[in-house]
Amino acid sequence: MKIYNTLSRKKEEFVPIEDGKVSMYVCGPTVYNLIHIGNARPMIVFDVVRRYFEYKGYEVRYVSNFTDVDDKIIAKAKEEGITAGEVASRYIDECKKDMEGLGVSPATVHPKATEEIGGMIDMISTLIEKGHAYKAQDGTVYFKTRSFDDYGKLSHKNIEDLEGGHRDINVTGEQKEDPLDFVLWKPKKEGEPYWESPWCDGRPGWHIECSVMSKAYLGDSIDIHAGGEDLIFPHHENEIAQSEAANGVPFANYWMHNAFLNIDHKKMSKSLGNFFTVRDISERFDLSVLRFFMLSAHYRSPLNFSDELMESAKNGLERIQTCADKCRFVLNNSSEKPLADEEKKLLGEAESFVKKFELAMEDDFNTADAIAAIFELVRFINQNISEASSECVKGYLDILEKLCKVMGIDISEKTEILDKEIEELINLRQQARQSKDFKRADEIRDELLAKGIALKDTREGVQWTRI
Ligand code: AMP
Ligand code: ZN
Repeated sequence: MKIYNTLSRKKEEFVPIEDGKVSMYVCGPTVYNLIHIGNARPMIVFDVVRRYFEYKGYEVRYVSNFTDVDDKIIAKAKEEGITAGEVASRYIDECKKDMEGLGVSPATVHPKATEEIGGMIDMISTLIEKGHAYKAQDGTVYFKTRSFDDYGKLSHKNIEDLEGGHRDINVTGEQKEDPLDFVLWKPKKEGEPYWESPWCDGRPGWHIECSVMSKAYLGDSIDIHAGGEDLIFPHHENEIAQSEAANGVPFANYWMHNAFLNIDHKKMSKSLGNFFTVRDISERFDLSVLRFFMLSAHYRSPLNFSDELMESAKNGLERIQTCADKCRFVLNNSSEKPLADEEKKLLGEAESFVKKFELAMEDDFNTADAIAAIFELVRFINQNISEASSECVKGYLDILEKLCKVMGIDISEKTEILDKEIEELINLRQQARQSKDFKRADEIRDELLAKGIALKDTREGVQWTRI
């Protein structure tokens, strides 16, 4: 299996630290508002990465945090006259609802920054002891960036260039020794949440949270660390500096970053105001459509959000769902027949789409090509289903379900029948009639009736109504 590693800027063969196991850390959202669909992209794509590892038989330990203390959360709490804890807890609950709607599996652990302060104090103390951090007069603790030789290795930045870029922005009042140094711990301000520490009452910087939560739940060295590409610098670069300086071992072997979800080819973000929340979208589309749309592109390609693409994702999803329903319908309405020799060959052919699917996924999780393989399978099933024995149809459905599960696409039986599915079933009935299989044609009519669809044969063709 090949993974594009931001660290080496190459696709590399995946070799886990421990045989048969994968440890993954995905940076989670800062919870001061409903999540927007840009935030949903890493959730969905890395959920599929996890599912694919599980499909391959790995045991995956997946950790994704909630940043529940931050300037924006505090500002929101002030605005609403409630505590920062209340703001965070409300939006964590809302985020979990959205994740469920999007079919994102809950992480093995969802740590919250405010519950890991002890670990942060320990790591900062170690960094000070090892000469990688220092306390300024006002109690702020800074990481000494130049003390970490490999600084810049993830973002491929040269420390000298960084220095040039930072020269002008030495904010008044800051007591850094070097403009490149970044905050590990900062003193409290009036009315803000704070924790006691050896340096001052205060709160952690953002980067130290992830270094500590990853260490606490996955250990000093992990297989994969992931997030959106905006996190490469400075967040992930700083995480590496902190973790490797404190622990003395490599932090993560593979760094994966998703490209942006854009609107009008600009990054969707709260600060630009050009965003839709997942909740907004759920009023117009089933969230499985949003998931399917996100997976229609490779995770490292920018993806532009548009109604047309969502409509096309909706149609694609319906095509797969209709095929699964058709399989189930045939299974429920045909007598059991053993697999004919010819059918064994057909099932073998159907398996070739699994190979195609796997090849796409093994190539840095190319979900776009993996979905294309699912569509080819659907086309193949549609072509061969009318003559197939129940045993063969069961085989087709098993394959389809197996691949859809990796994508997190739920194709289980739905009570509500979609227009597309009705039309497919009508076509199937017409085919049965043409081959003079009137029994099957009647069964299809009865099945539709049971779902509240009445058929009328007219000279212009079959008309249907919901009753
Ligand atoms: P934040 O709450 O801004 O820290 O973001 C949480 C996660 O969403 C991070 O992994 C970000 O990189 C990611 N993210 C934010 N905006 C977008 C976007 N427009 N497209 C893709 N990922 C995004
Ligand atoms: Zn992080």
